Amino acid sequence: MTTFHSTRSTTDSLTSKQAIRKGIADDGGLFVTDSLGETHVDIASLAGKSYQQIAFDVLSVLLPDFTETELKACISEAYGAQWSDEKITPVKPLGDDYVMELFNGPTSAFKDVALQILPRFMARTTPTDGDDNEKIMIVTATSGDTGKAALAGFADAEGTGITVFYPEGKVSQVQELQMSTQAGSNVNVCAVKGNFDDAQSAVKRIFGDRELANRLASDSHVVLSSANSINVGRLVPQVVYYFSAYAQLLEQQVINVGDEVEFVVPTGNFGDILAGYYAKLLGLPVKHLVVASDKNNVLFDFLTSGTYNRQRPFYQTISPSMDILISSNLERMLYYMSGKDTRLIAMLMNDLNQWGAYEVPEPMLAKIRSLFGTGWADEDQVREMIADCWNKNHYVIDPHTACGYYVMQQMPRDPLTPRVLLSTASPYKFPRVVNESLGLDASGTDFECMDVLAEATGTTAPAALRGLETANVRFDHVVDIDSMEDFVEQAAKTL
Ligand SMILES: *Cc1c(COP(=O)(O)O)cnc(C)c1O
Repeated sequence: MTTFHSTRSTTDSLTSKQAIRKGIADDGGLFVTDSLGETHVDIASLAGKSYQQIAFDVLSVLLPDFTETELKACISEAYGAQWSDEKITPVKPLGDDYVMELFNGPTSAFKDVALQILPRFMARTTPTDGDDNEKIMIVTATSGDTGKAALAGFADAEGTGITVFYPEGKVSQVQELQMSTQAGSNVNVCAVKGNFDDAQSAVKRIFGDRELANRLASDSHVVLSSANSINVGRLVPQVVYYFSAYAQLLEQQVINVGDEVEFVVPTGNFGDILAGYYAKLLGLPVKHLVVASDKNNVLFDFLTSGTYNRQRPFYQTISPSMDILISSNLERMLYYMSGKDTRLIAMLMNDLNQWGAYEVPEPMLAKIRSLFGTGWADEDQVREMIADCWNKNHYVIDPHTACGYYVMQQMPRDPLTPRVLLSTASPYKFPRVVNESLGLDASGTDFECMDVLAEATGTTAPAALRGLETANVRFDHVVDIDSMEDFVEQAAKTL
């Protein structure tokens, strides 16, 4: 049977449902299964299948304790009419290469792929300690994108509630409106007086508060959980689109069954690209996975030197969702690349906590480097690439995708191996930077920028983003850092 344990020890033996409900292991490690790769997904039968059918093929291998009925219900609820393209993640030509759009979901960023289905998974897990009335309250601090995608996913999801905190005045106009106008009877949004790190640290304290946990359990039957990208239930839905890309390339007669492809992935927390590695372990013919970073290039340094060092300056860039110094999901890749050596992983993560750095053994680095390529782009290069991609291909990309586009341009191209760039956000989420890069007027509001961009490029803003200008604001709470815990407790009472 497929069971999950921590990357740092083998003591746990959890089903995938338990791992999804629990989120993170008690020792701080991430849940992994040693069965990964034992069963392959049949690639010969991919062509012609819908996204939903491919999702079923992949998820039934990765989450075997969900029944067929459960998985099919989760899939059809998550990948339905809320997506603006029936292919869900369409693959399109981009010059001699290809781009896969991951941003056609309700919040126009790739996190929708996972956060549309995670709440549906959670609703089908059951409490471990026998309290059948137990509800899950998701608590998240966000610097922008994750909060909205999580709100959209959990809004009105059975057995759950969600509370999102964001730093007051530190998110864009569009991002703030995306959150403050969120519909749903189980959602709460609150601005915090402080920066993102303050809010994030306070959320960690809230999770660690035993007395609060006891009060929530006895007064409101509520347990707290997080929706961040280390949850197994957020990782596995992303494996699906790698298979979907392959199916689409087969249908477009770019490849034959068995041919290898390459993926270039704008990377922050290493979730998106890790899913590509899982796809390879499940039998997808992947030649290379290319990690593209922004100016926060800690992964580039790691993949070139073998030393991961988080003691370095943090840059706030125009690709904010990739501004990360600790790439949490890397731990899972290291686990598999080390030959499933929990002791080594525990030691490395201890070094990271204690010294801010770790170094992997040379043979392991060589193995990693034979699969993972890497590169990074600074902010000037990101702006240049947005213009370059438009000029060469008449295709508008956002600043995150532009990091990947830059890295792809720098790589030698093997004409026999198709390359797919993963596009992680709609350019309309970042209309000001895009307009500046394209030499368009960027002096007005975000909405005026959207209109200028649409007019100049003949593209259309996603309705959900353009409509925010006139949407009804539901939440205008602002609290001190010290009052966040209270806010969560009040919100739990209304669940
Ligand atoms: C989250 C995010 C990324 C980075 O994805 P990871 O899974 O954290 O590597 C890249 N681009 C956008 C737009 C994102 O929202």
